[in-house]
Amino acid sequence: MSVRVVLLGPPGAGKGTQAAKIKEKWDAAHVSTGDILRDNVKEGTQTGLLAKSYMDAGRLVPDDVMIDMIRSRLSRGDAAKGGFILDGFPRTPTQAAALDRILEEMGLRLDAAILLEVSDDEAVRRLSSRRVCQDCGAIYNIIARRTKEEGVCDVCGGSVIQRDDDQEGVIRDRLMVYRERTSPLIDYYADKGLLHRVDGTRSSDAAMLTLESIVAG
Ligand code: ADP
Ligand code: ZN
Repeated sequence: MSVRVVLLGPPGAGKGTQAAKIKEKWDAAHVSTGDILRDNVKEGTQTGLLAKSYMDAGRLVPDDVMIDMIRSRLSRGDAAKGGFILDGFPRTPTQAAALDRILEEMGLRLDAAILLEVSDDEAVRRLSSRRVCQDCGAIYNIIARRTKEEGVCDVCGGSVIQRDDDQEGVIRDRLMVYRERTSPLIDYYADKGLLHRVDGTRSSDAAMLTLESIVAG
C-alpha cells in the first residue's frame, strides 16, 4: 500500500512533523522542497546560490526552478514506486498545475491534499521558538521540545541552530506570501474533491490518522 499526499498549510503549521509520522507509517518518500533547497545552499550548488536570496527574504523561489526539482525528485524509484508526502510543494497555482501534469505522465494520482490549519499567532510563536539540526534536519523547539544538551542534536550530535528565515520579521513576510500565493490551492484541491482539513494545533498524529481513514475508504 503506497500513499501519495500533498501537505498544505502556512509555515509553522507542522508540515514537517506530520510528514515524518506519515513516512513512518507508510514508508513513503518525505519530499520537503525546503530541505532540498537548504541542502543546495549548504553545498553551494547553482540552485542553492540562486535560491538563497529568496529564502532569506521569505519569498518564493521561481516556479520553473521548483518544478524541475520536483520532477526529478519524483522520478526517483522510492517516490515513483513507494509513494510520497509532498511538504512545501506546490506553493503556487502554477506549481499545482505542473504537479498534475507530472503525475499524469507517470500514470499516478494523488490520494489527498491535507490542509493543516493554525492561526497566525500560533505560527509565529512556533517558528520563532523553532530550532533545527543543521546536519539531519531534526526539529526542536526551545519551549516545547528542547535538546538534551544545549545546541546539540539528540539524534545525530550535529549542531542545532535557528534558521535565518525564522526571525520574526521574515516570519510575518512568509505568512503573507502564504496567504497571497499559496492559499488559493485550498480551493484548487477542494474542487478536485481531494481536500481534507486538519486542526494543526491538535496532536502531531492528526494528519496521519486522517490519511489512514482516507486510504481505508
Ligand atoms: P516553511 O514551510 O516553514 O515556510 P520551507 O522549509 O518549506 O518553510 O521553505 C523555506 C523556503 O524555501 C521558503 O520560504 C521559500 O523561499 C523556499 N521554498 C520552499 N518550497 C518552495 C516552493 N515550492 N516554491 C517556492 N519556494 C519554495
Ligand atoms: Zn541531527
